[in-house]
Amino acid sequence: MKRLVLLGGGHAHVKVLDDLARQRLPGCEVHLVTPYRRQIYSGMLPGWIAGHYPIEACAIALDRLAAAAAIGFHETAALGLDLAQQSVHCADGSDVRFDVLSIDTGPMPALQDLPGSTEHAMPVRPIERFIAAWPLLVDRILGQCRRFDLVILGAGAAGVELAFAVQRRAAVEGWSHLRISVVGADELPLAGAPAATRKHAARLLAQRGMAWIGGRRAARLEAGHLHFEQGEPLAFDACLAATGAAAPAWPATSGLATDERGFIRVGPTLQSVSHPNVFAAGDVAAYAAERPKSGVYAVRAGPVLAHNLRAFCEARELQVWTPQPRALYLISTGDRHALATWGRWSWSGRWVWRWKDHIDRQFMRRFGTVA
Ligand SMILES: Cc1cc2nc3c(=O)[nH]c(=O)nc-3n(C[C@H](O)[C@H](O)[C@H](O)COP(=O)(O)OP(=O)(O)OC[C@H]3O[C@@H](n4cnc5c(N)ncnc54)[C@H](O)[C@@H]3O)c2cc1C
Repeated sequence: MKRLVLLGGGHAHVKVLDDLARQRLPGCEVHLVTPYRRQIYSGMLPGWIAGHYPIEACAIALDRLAAAAAIGFHETAALGLDLAQQSVHCADGSDVRFDVLSIDTGPMPALQDLPGSTEHAMPVRPIERFIAAWPLLVDRILGQCRRFDLVILGAGAAGVELAFAVQRRAAVEGWSHLRISVVGADELPLAGAPAATRKHAARLLAQRGMAWIGGRRAARLEAGHLHFEQGEPLAFDACLAATGAAAPAWPATSGLATDERGFIRVGPTLQSVSHPNVFAAGDVAAYAAERPKSGVYAVRAGPVLAHNLRAFCEARELQVWTPQPRALYLISTGDRHALATWGRWSWSGRWVWRWKDHIDRQFMRRFGTVA
């Protein structure tokens, strides 16, 4: 009996789990190793902060999907791989043996190069830790009578969505002493988006009373202050960090081929270029055709990964995947309003938020929420 081990309950693996629940894999024992019983859908996380959704509506029940697929569920994280012995070493001390391994464990927060971030920033990842820390931040905001300065470090989709979500929550709950500043290294937020969308996002931040601090590269954090490579430091009461995706260390240290940043290099079939019985998808993978780290590509890799894991176990031909050159990005801007971009096209409005809400809810319905 072959053993297929799935590491991480990320966006591509929920599709694999769903596929296995619909059709078993004969002659193969399957295991899922992941630290939480649920998978938070990051696209809806800002909506939870804004107060649009309860957290249960944003969480896919991985344990239920695993049970439906009749596969083993290991509630722990991988710490490393022994590729010679074909086993995964886990945080709970167990070693999980595999013949075929698939990795969709997502990114780490890109904070390694920012001294002081471990002590003084609240990273948005791991998302479960962020969710646990959020009520404590709310208590701190509510417990302070004078002005409370919240700095959001990082002005990509995640940072911008977080800023608008917190601002919306503050408006609804009457946290009038909260001041939000969004800090980014570029002159405008949303690097990679069309220029008109970036300008629009900056205008919206200002309209909602938030400060946009662009063109400033963070150098280090210390208690209450964010220091930049140049210029005056910025004082804060709390700093949320949404600084992008970094690779975990263990794929490279385990001996898997990685790119220069440590992401697992895979070919067009999603197989590791060094270990063909290891597959990877989502943000942890470096695809043959390079794409931005984003949930869209993790979701799109899912069906091909599901097909190829099955085909590999059954010694059939694998499919080739070329990620689409452009992706639709839907960025919520708090007040049931959103921006959309597709290549150089962009739209905005309440109808965009309803479109995003429809797509997100449809995605969650397909895989089953914890509610
Ligand atoms: C606030 C926010 C908003 C965002 N909005 C968008 C958006 O609108 N559009 C978009 O395209 N992208 C968006 N993103 C980016 C998106 O979240 C990521 O690109 C996406 O989550 C990557 O999916 P993934 O499957 O690679 O990993 P993840 O979704 O991170 O899943 C990783 C899984 O692996 C598990 N895991 C982690 N480490 C281990 C380990 N060592 N061993 C075992 N399991 C492990 C985790 O618990 C999780 O189940 C947003 C991100 C944030 C934070």
